[in-house]
Amino acid sequence: MVINNQIVTFPELKEAYSKYINNPDDLARIEKAYNFASLKHEGQFRKSGDPYITHLLGVGMILATLQTSPNTIIAGLLHDTIEDTGTTKEEIALQFGDEVAFLVESLTKITRLSDFHNSDFQAEDHRKIFLAMAADIRVIIIKLADRLHNMRTLQFQPEEKQKRIAQETLDVYVPIAHRLGLNSIMSELQDLSLYYSQREVFSSIEEKLNESNKDLNDSLMRIKTKLTALLTKAGIPFEISSRVKSIYSIYKKMYLKNYKFEDIYDILALRIITKTETNCYEILGYIHSAFTPVPGRFKDYIAMPKPNMYQSLHTTILSGDGHVFEIQIRTQEMDETAEEGVAAHWRYKEGTHYDPKKEQHDIEEQLHWFKDFVNLANQDKDEVNAKEYESQLRQDIFEANVYVFTPKGKVIDLPAGATPIDFAYKIHTDLGDTLSGARVNGKLVPLSTKLKTGDMVEIETKNGSSPNSEWLNIAVSSFAKAHIRKYLAKQNAEYIRSDQIEKGKASMRDSLRERKVTGSIEKMIDQKLLDNFRCADSDELYIKICNRNLMPQQIIEYLDIAHPSSSPEMIASDTKKALQNKPAPSVKDAVLLANGDSAMITLANCCTPLPGDPIVGYVSKGRGIKVHRANCPNILSEQARLIQVKWNPEMDKSVKYPVDFFVESFDRAGLLVDIMNTITHQGDLVTSIKAQYKASHGVTTVAITAMVEDASALDNLFQALMGVKSVYSVRRALH
Ligand code: MN
Repeated sequence: MVINNQIVTFPELKEAYSKYINNPDDLARIEKAYNFASLKHEGQFRKSGDPYITHLLGVGMILATLQTSPNTIIAGLLHDTIEDTGTTKEEIALQFGDEVAFLVESLTKITRLSDFHNSDFQAEDHRKIFLAMAADIRVIIIKLADRLHNMRTLQFQPEEKQKRIAQETLDVYVPIAHRLGLNSIMSELQDLSLYYSQREVFSSIEEKLNESNKDLNDSLMRIKTKLTALLTKAGIPFEISSRVKSIYSIYKKMYLKNYKFEDIYDILALRIITKTETNCYEILGYIHSAFTPVPGRFKDYIAMPKPNMYQSLHTTILSGDGHVFEIQIRTQEMDETAEEGVAAHWRYKEGTHYDPKKEQHDIEEQLHWFKDFVNLANQDKDEVNAKEYESQLRQDIFEANVYVFTPKGKVIDLPAGATPIDFAYKIHTDLGDTLSGARVNGKLVPLSTKLKTGDMVEIETKNGSSPNSEWLNIAVSSFAKAHIRKYLAKQNAEYIRSDQIEKGKASMRDSLRERKVTGSIEKMIDQKLLDNFRCADSDELYIKICNRNLMPQQIIEYLDIAHPSSSPEMIASDTKKALQNKPAPSVKDAVLLANGDSAMITLANCCTPLPGDPIVGYVSKGRGIKVHRANCPNILSEQARLIQVKWNPEMDKSVKYPVDFFVESFDRAGLLVDIMNTITHQGDLVTSIKAQYKASHGVTTVAITAMVEDASALDNLFQALMGVKSVYSVRRALH
């Protein structure tokens, strides 16, 4: 194999770019960049012993051959100055402008990132990073030129490094070159990689090629002669050439697809270049009339370009002397695209106003390599999935990911918009849970700071620091949010427990009060009572009461406290009291007994039923009928006293009834105001609002009594309340 590692001199480079760059300013700037780089890298040498500048001239030459813009060549010459000579971005900006400085800086970041030879760093990660960093396609092209020159001079590296670099080239750089349609670069990178990674395989293919070459060449010459005569006679403009299939592509067919060398019929292919698309099809017609085409081998990439913009007609013919050849037919322009992909499309043209953004846009429009990518990854999925996958992938690569460093230089990838909280949780749950502050590039920053690719992030922790609900708004990654929620829920469990104890106690107190028992409940609860109800302590007893596993009634019975209603005078006073307590307005008309009769009916305070709720009546001693919601736990064990009741269809619809409910929310400023406004906006009236805030959990529970028309009005109200920012639960109270 002939490796092109010839040293390029500056006059040679100048000759190459002077072919298409004539502007004296540009010429002067390129020369200035060469001098700048020479000076900066003075005294540095490559493994080959050559001065370092030879690498930069080599890269410059590859870029000039692709006819890239003056700034691209300048950035190519300067690409190692920040990394290897300590030159600052500012200095480059001052000398060569912001655009060049941006290109060089991007290249430096890629160098730093791709220097990680971390074993759990996948090739796909490398590619993603590469593409994310190189949001400007010029950066990718310079980087590929850099890698190509390094591959050309790889012989000077130790064998182990040769193998590693070759593998990385195949894994990372070749797919990118392929996707961008930079086929000549791709093909050279592949051959060089194979040469360094599997020398024996490479040599055996090379040998076979040389052996068969003469025979194939003779056959090809005969076809060429025949075709030349035909097309000349037809008056169609054409150029005819032949090319040898690259060693790597033969290797792929032989070793990855199990072909025999003899069965690869396109080792030598003919290429016909003509003027117009129409000419292409005309030529195809002549070929098919003169030779026998192999069925199923005709491919029209003109009408259906490949995802990387490749266009051409392919056909395979029988030569008539025992050989099979592939013929490619295309225009000059298609040929340039086939060899250089985006670079061809993008060749520097003097005199036209250069707009990098527009160019980037044009290229992305034309490049359908995302689809190519998708097809590879998704071969057996249906199209809808593929589309979804494609857009996800696009997001993944160009929008979604930022790549940041730990202080030790590990690369962490995060979704776009990620903050130090996401970063901390990505590294370790404990780091997230004790996070107290963050530094980005050495500077202390708010936790809400959005991280950018290339940032170095340090997390500060403190004992006693803990996640709060506001973090849920700051974190963007699902893993961080899940951890924060888990933490808050754990804290919340403690909160719920103390809440349940309070409720159980209140419910016990109410029952005692109903029986006119005064004195502290605590005093009534002794070990014997706890043992009887199998509770370890009074907290457990209250929780059981709250959860309705134990009814206050049972405790009262156990304590043998007589019900006050058994005394006649108590009934009278009770009735009087019930009247003083005045039931909700017109409630008497709102509920009827099942048989249509009215009775002294009041609505229970424990479950605050509303018109529309399923209800049941509870015959209380001396206080008429209490209407509960049908599912009210307070009456479940009192089946004998229940009586069927129904809402009066002719009730006064303008009357509103009290209803108790809880709103739970992550705490924030203005929460109560928003809740009040929402209720008022619904046309309902708040008669009581009480908020309890648990600072350690960042959660607020708001207990509300409001006057509401009926159950469906309450539904509407709940829906409105769920729409209030940071509210996560609204539920009716059961006291
Ligand atoms: Mn380099």
